Amino acid sequence: MTEGELVSFNCRGCASADVVPVVNLGEQPCADLFPPAETSGPDPRWPLALWLCRACTLVQLGPVEAQIAEEPLAVESATSRAHAEASVKEILRDYPELLGGVVFEFGSPHGGSWLDHLSAAGSRLAGVGEQADLVIDVHGIVHEPQYGESLKLRADRLAPGGLLVMEFHHLLPLFVGNQFDTIRHGHWAYVSLRALRNLAAHHGLTVESVRQVEMYGGSLMVMLRHTEDAQPDPSVDVVLDDEDAAGIADEVQLGSLQEAAWHAAGALHAELIRHKVAGRTVLGYGAPSKAPVLLDLSKVTTDLLPFTVDLSPRKHGRRIPGGSMVPIRPIDELKAARPDVVLVLTWDIADEIVAQLEADGGWGATYLVPLPEPHERA
Ligand SMILES: [Zn+2]
Repeated sequence: MTEGELVSFNCRGCASADVVPVVNLGEQPCADLFPPAETSGPDPRWPLALWLCRACTLVQLGPVEAQIAEEPLAVESATSRAHAEASVKEILRDYPELLGGVVFEFGSPHGGSWLDHLSAAGSRLAGVGEQADLVIDVHGIVHEPQYGESLKLRADRLAPGGLLVMEFHHLLPLFVGNQFDTIRHGHWAYVSLRALRNLAAHHGLTVESVRQVEMYGGSLMVMLRHTEDAQPDPSVDVVLDDEDAAGIADEVQLGSLQEAAWHAAGALHAELIRHKVAGRTVLGYGAPSKAPVLLDLSKVTTDLLPFTVDLSPRKHGRRIPGGSMVPIRPIDELKAARPDVVLVLTWDIADEIVAQLEADGGWGATYLVPLPEPHERA
């Protein structure tokens, strides 16, 4: 899209034409398509920008013409697997009427499925087209380009009296924590509770309760019901008030994220230069889909970060997409290289990573966490 070009674009949530651009991260490569390490690029790029709908307040990717291929190669983190198990226990404890009921899950390419745990607890999977007492969407819906239509599918699946549980990365910590690297092609919506509440009403759903969970740097688990069944509790207003105080439905406030992103990116570049000048080696940990935009905006290339490592064998021999060209290698190569500094690209599971690398005593490395501003992990 060039400046001045007329773009016809309607809100992905409510179809309103009253949508405005708020954050522009420039042209970025597909975040989840890791090319073989020897391919030189340049990788194809598409505009990456956030738009705000003034009608329903949904924050979303703007118009993207290209059909962007996804090739998820990640292995599920231990943090994610443990979270799924704990969530199922919690829900069945707090909603015992769901025990033994019918469940349906809208899946996510990130994994984190609840179905095995629910089956083990005696739930029955819904048949084709059958409505369910418990409908689950854990980090699924943002992969759907049309949020509103997808929300309707979830409402249609929900039996009268049933519970819809939706977990998603929350716009509030994204904004407050400067988590700009979670903005990526393929994640079409960046959802606040207010936006979800507004859109749910279009489909006869009401938010009943909400919990804040730590996944992916700050997520919400939201419980919804058909409006005639819902009895909202005070947790809903608490989160709505927090969102209002931060101004995440305000286009000027949201726009400040762009400056914060460029500032952190510049600071990361400066920090890596500082280590290089001091003769300290820096290597990366993780090759998440967050890495391309972070390294690209930070202008980090292999002279500052010779390689990164990842648990997923399917990423080995590949590289980070975009301008960084940073190759991805097995974890053992990081341990063998014993760098002075480990740049934690998967910062949302930093605890898991540091525990893993320090399990056999480590080698005295420091851990550099890139956001909200680069800092050494205590
Ligand atoms: Zn809208």
